[in-house]
Amino acid sequence: MSQTDRAVRVRFAPSPTGPLHIGGVRTALYNYLFARRHGGKMILRIEDTDSQRFVPGAEDYINEALAWLGIEIDEGVREGGPFGPYKQSERRDIYREHVKMLLDNGKAYIAFDTPEELQAARDAHPNFQYDASTRMSMRNSLTMPAEEVKELIDNGHQYVVRFLVEPGRDVEVDDLLRGKVVIKSDILDDKVLYKSADDLPTYHLANIVDDHLMEVSHVIRGEEWLPSAPLHVLLYEAFGWSDTAPQFVHLPLLLKPDGKGKLSKRDGDRLGFPVFPLEWHDPASGAISTGYRESGYLPEAVVNFLALLGWNPGDDTEVMNMSELIERFSFDHCSRSGAKFAFEKGKWFNHTYLQEMPNDKLASLFVPVLEAHGVDAGAFAPDYIAAAVGMVKDRINFVNDLWDNARFFFVAPTEYEAKAVKKRWTPGMPETMAALADLLEAQEDFGSATLEPLVMKWIADRELHLGNVMNAFRLTVVGECKGPHMFAITDLLGRDETVRRIRRGIENIKPAE
Ligand code: GLU
Repeated sequence: MSQTDRAVRVRFAPSPTGPLHIGGVRTALYNYLFARRHGGKMILRIEDTDSQRFVPGAEDYINEALAWLGIEIDEGVREGGPFGPYKQSERRDIYREHVKMLLDNGKAYIAFDTPEELQAARDAHPNFQYDASTRMSMRNSLTMPAEEVKELIDNGHQYVVRFLVEPGRDVEVDDLLRGKVVIKSDILDDKVLYKSADDLPTYHLANIVDDHLMEVSHVIRGEEWLPSAPLHVLLYEAFGWSDTAPQFVHLPLLLKPDGKGKLSKRDGDRLGFPVFPLEWHDPASGAISTGYRESGYLPEAVVNFLALLGWNPGDDTEVMNMSELIERFSFDHCSRSGAKFAFEKGKWFNHTYLQEMPNDKLASLFVPVLEAHGVDAGAFAPDYIAAAVGMVKDRINFVNDLWDNARFFFVAPTEYEAKAVKKRWTPGMPETMAALADLLEAQEDFGSATLEPLVMKWIADRELHLGNVMNAFRLTVVGECKGPHMFAITDLLGRDETVRRIRRGIENIKPAE
C-alpha cells in the first residue's frame, strides 16, 4: 500500500523521564496538526521501558501539558482505543513474542557478556563495537553450543537479545523532509533489543513493534532520532513489515536564540524564558522549573509560536489559531534546518492574543493577580475591572504585567515618582491643584466628554501651562507620569476618588530639595 492512500495514524511517544521539553511539545503539535489536517488519528504512547530512567509524575505532566495546549489525543492510556495497552510496560507479552520471532528466524541472538567483559573488550579495542567483526569472539548463542545456552538460561543467568546486523548492506532511509539517505550497515552495531534482567525490550524493539501493531502511518519525531532510523529500517525488514513501514519525518532541531547549538534548559535560565510548558517540581531534587503556563502565557499563543518554529503556511501569515493551523499545515513548508528559538516572538504572540481577548475574560485572569497583591478584588465591580484592563492592555505582554500598568485603579498612590515630582511639583503647583480639586468636586457630570473640555477651558482661562498642570494632576492620581488618557482614568475612578487623590497628593508630595 502506498503512503498516500493509507489512513493517517500518528503517535507522540514520549518517555516519562522528566518534564516534557518545549521541543517535545512542538513534536506533539506537528503530529496533531498533521493528524487533524488529514482526518487521521493521534495516538499518545508512553514509552516507559527504561525502568532506570522512570520519573514519577512525568506521565501526568505530559497529559496535563497536552490538555492545556489543546492537543487532543484520540487513542492513549487515558483515552483507550483498539490498539491498547498504550503504555509499553503493559505490553511485555507482545514484545516477548516478537523477540522470539526474531530469534527463531535467525535475525537476532542471545548474548551473555557481562558488563565487565564488555568493558574489557572496549579497553582492548578502542573502537570496539559489537558487530560482525567482533561478535564471533564474544559470549553469545552464535559462539556457544546450544546446550550451554539453554543451560545458562535455565539456571537463571542474565542475558540480552541482540539484533544481528548483516554487514555490507546499503540501508535506505526515506525521510519526507530530507529525501532518501543511504548508509552502510557496517557502521551499525548489534543493538540490544531485550534484557532478561527486567524482562523488557529496549526502545528500538518496542518502538518498531508498536508502530507496526498500532498501524502508524507516519513517524514524526525530532531530528535527534534520525541516527536510529537505519536500525529501524532493518528491523522492519527483519520482521517482514517493510511494505507497511511508516513514513519518517524528522523535524529540525530547536536552536539557541543566540549563537549556535541546540536549545537547552540553561539557555532559558540564562535569557529568562521557560523551556517547559508547565511548571515542573523535580521529585528527586525538589527544584522547581518555571513553565509557560505559570509565566503567564496563553496556550493559544504558545501553540501559534511553536507551530512557526520550523514551519510556515507558505505566506507571511503569523497569527493563526489551532483550526487555522490545522487547515494550513503541511510538510511542504517545513524546513530541514534548525529553527532558532526566538522567545521574544513568543512574547509578541502572547501580547497579540491578549489584545484579542474580551476585556471581561482578561479581567477574570487579572483577579488572582490583584488578590496576590493584597487587593480585595471583590470590592470592585466586574465592569470596573474590565474597563481598567481594557485601558492598559495594549501595554502588556503578560497578564501579570497588568499589575504595574493598572494597579492605580485599585490602590491609590502613596509614593510619587521622584523625577516627575522634581519636574512638575513646582512652586505654586499645590495651590493650582487645590483649585482644580475644588473645581472637580463641584462637578455633577464627571464623564470625560464633559470634564475634559471643562478642565481645558479652566487651564486656558487662568493662562496656566497645560503640560505642567496635566502632569501634576496625573502625578496625584496615578503616582507617576504615565498611563492611559487622563480623562479616561478620571471617568473610571469617579469624582470622589479623583478629588481625594488630588488632596492627598497636595498633602504628601514633598517638593524636591
Ligand atoms: N520514546 C522516544 C522519545 O522519548 C520516542 C522517539 C520516537 O518518536 O520514535 O522521544
